[in-house]
Amino acid sequence: MTPRPASATARIDLHTHSTASDGTLGPAELVRAAAKAGLDVLAITDHDTTAGWEPAVRALPPGLTLVRGAELSCRWYGTDPAVPLHLLAYLFDPADPDLVAELARVRLAREVRGERIVELLRADGIDVNWSEILAGAGGGTVGRPHIAQALIRAGLVATTTEAFGPNWLGERYRLPKDDIDVFRAIRLVRAAGGVTVFAHPRATRRGRIVPDELIVELAAAGLAGLEADHEDHSPAERAHVRGLAAELGLLVTGSSDFHGTHKTVQLGAHTTDPEAYERIVAAASGVTELASG
Ligand code: AMP
Ligand code: ZN
Ligand code: FE
Ligand code: FE
Repeated sequence: MTPRPASATARIDLHTHSTASDGTLGPAELVRAAAKAGLDVLAITDHDTTAGWEPAVRALPPGLTLVRGAELSCRWYGTDPAVPLHLLAYLFDPADPDLVAELARVRLAREVRGERIVELLRADGIDVNWSEILAGAGGGTVGRPHIAQALIRAGLVATTTEAFGPNWLGERYRLPKDDIDVFRAIRLVRAAGGVTVFAHPRATRRGRIVPDELIVELAAAGLAGLEADHEDHSPAERAHVRGLAAELGLLVTGSSDFHGTHKTVQLGAHTTDPEAYERIVAAASGVTELASG
């Protein structure tokens, strides 16, 4: 299939999650919801997996272009303790053996960490059950939002946001997982023909962020862009990211980071300029066609 050039008015959302990770809509439901929301281009970017790609392509409504992607769990090991961060990866070859192996390793690390978090909770007398939580993830990449659901079911918290508070998964019961070194992730995605964008790089409300000096180094290592318009960025943070991108010649994206009912943000709440999207497509190489409905 050939990529369709985006019109100047195209509505483009380049960061969304399905049940292949911690979203609540299945990949098919996600693409249908995207068309209904009036989007022209949608990227599916589940955490550390490409499992949603096929069902999304199969269900693609006419007129919607799908950008196949993933959100990679990375870490910057240049400081102690290492800082976790998310890289959006687009249009890479899903069969690339090195990348496939790394994603499988990270998904397993997520299971190990999830089970440990549950052990910590249980040691404090909190009645949550790991096999139930795993079942709740339905075979998709498991994450803290699935544990949050168990805390809600147990009546311990009312909302996902509360479950991510300091008394729960945000701090007290937060454990690190074994992520991908961010420089290695950029190399792997590029070697697989893909393009990387740093997701929500200044989201201080999520925890620690990396210094701008690291972003300079990432740009030199092949990072293509920065996500500026994101729910977790204040107006000042968005402006800062745009300035940094301009300085470094990086493209800038905006996206919803839609998670269905696990978050309140709606599809298309933030969008990417067609010009930036075209740069992503142009920077991709290899067997990475866009699927167009
Ligand atoms: P994990 O990938 O297991 O570390 O869980 C992190 C995921 O939980 C992120 O990708 C977000 O989608 C979600 N998340 C993080 N903070 C919050 C929050 N405060 N409220 C709701 N969801 C959150
Ligand atoms: Zn998520
Ligand atoms: Fe993220
Ligand atoms: Fe995300």
